[in-house]
Amino acid sequence: MCGIVGYVGKKPVVSILVDGLSKLEYRGYDSAGIAVFKDSCIEVHKAQGKLQNLRDLLAENNACELAATLGVGHIRWATHGIPNTINAHPHRSNCERIALVHNGIIENYKELKEFLIDKGCVFASETDTEVIAHLISYEYDKSNDFLTAVREAVKQL
Ligand code: GLU
Repeated sequence: MCGIVGYVGKKPVVSILVDGLSKLEYRGYDSAGIAVFKDSCIEVHKAQGKLQNLRDLLAENNACELAATLGVGHIRWATHGIPNTINAHPHRSNCERIALVHNGIIENYKELKEFLIDKGCVFASETDTEVIAHLISYEYDKSNDFLTAVREAVKQL
């Protein structure tokens, strides 16, 4: 079992995400991560093990000072790929314009991964989740519309 926290608002998002994740810790997890959106860029921080490891990483990178006010956080319970930092969420598309977190299992991820590799996507992790980021990006290239891209990707999952 794992958990997801998201925030869109006016307050600095990093501490809101970490506080939210701390409330989900009781569910059990093996790694934690956040993605925040600032100045048209997505910044991702993730760490294996306890949430404190992510807190330490954020402190080292002065990430708590970020003025970002939009973001998502995740604690992972690995199903596909070992518990490590690379497999921790969020996962990104190759051009890093999409980052996402996910709970559960993508049952047809192998077929989708083969299809996406054939289209030139390079996978960083062993997770089933990463196919979603590449698939939305692939669909975005076709429609140039984010909502359409998400809808078309979800149909295939
Ligand atoms: N299947 C995904 C993974 O292994 C998500 C696991 C979860 O629900 O935390 O990364």
